[in-house]
Amino acid sequence: MRNVVIIGSGPAGLTAAIYAARANLQPLLIEGKEPGGQLTLTTLVENYPGFADGIMGPQLMEEMKKQAARFGAEIVNGYVHRVSLKEGPFRVYYGDQEVQAKTVIISTGSSAKLIGLEAEKRLMGYGVSTCATCDGFFFRGKKIAVVGGGDSAMEEATFLTKFASDISLIHRRDTLRASKIMQDRAMKNPKIKFVWNTVVEDIYGDPQSGVTGLALRNIKTDQTSRLDVDGLFLAIGHNPNTEIFRGQIDLDERGYIRTQPDSTRTNIPGVFACGDVQDPVFRQAVTAAGSGCMAAIEAERWLEH
Ligand code: NAP
Repeated sequence: MRNVVIIGSGPAGLTAAIYAARANLQPLLIEGKEPGGQLTLTTLVENYPGFADGIMGPQLMEEMKKQAARFGAEIVNGYVHRVSLKEGPFRVYYGDQEVQAKTVIISTGSSAKLIGLEAEKRLMGYGVSTCATCDGFFFRGKKIAVVGGGDSAMEEATFLTKFASDISLIHRRDTLRASKIMQDRAMKNPKIKFVWNTVVEDIYGDPQSGVTGLALRNIKTDQTSRLDVDGLFLAIGHNPNTEIFRGQIDLDERGYIRTQPDSTRTNIPGVFACGDVQDPVFRQAVTAAGSGCMAAIEAERWLEH
């Protein structure tokens, strides 16, 4: 029987592990399919406080992991495929193991949707990005493309105009899903050019030279073309990783775990959620870490009571 089981090893889960371990709760953290989470998909992280010269995403996560282990958190590599949260003790199943827990902290994050191209995975962090806030800075004076037609795409494209010299916003239809105000802002921006009814079929480049261009296809005319760009930002949405909790815990209409205001408490007493799995708005490493700290403190107080 564990005091605390933490599911997921991004900044939220590892911060929860640091705090829970320092509170002497001997937490067990189960890493998940992508140890370290989304930050391991990026290169230089320049906005995480405390690193004046920036730090590589994978290294930042390695440091957090070492820090959690130093205080006695047990970190295991495994993927949680089932949970039973209906009543305590909670049960968490990973691999062929079953573990019982007095409290559970869910920090399974979210995953950026990808188009599904082989090149997209190969060039992720080398010109392909799913986070303008993280990587926009590297594209000062460069030509880039943004894919998507929702609020995220408008927001990311508008944000990227601070850096890039020109932006092609590629959307698969001829009408946007984004709110009127965000559309107007993007359309009024002289640096953003809309490419309608178009999909990206391939990305040219390699990890050494970065992205050099895109193969495009107009889905109305079937015409193909090449667009020379130095970067590609995917803004086609995120999916919270909540499949295994569905039917057991309150989710919002988009599948994010609902937490109570100013808290990481879920609708199940003793179950807490932190990081991107409950945050469709900020989605930053530092906010995830902050909410991981909150979850550990709330779990500790819950155990005391
Ligand atoms: P979204 O609203 O689901 O939009 C995703 C966009 O990507 C859609 O235009 C969609 O095209 C396109 N898309 C999806 N899969 C694609 C694929 N495989 N290939 C090419 N295009 C694809 O997602 P979002 O923009 O991330 O927004 C999510 C939610 O967060 C929304 O509720 C949004 O309002 C909110 N949000 C709000 C703000 C803000 O208010 N500041 C900022 C960001 C997000 P189709 O249109 O053809 O489906």
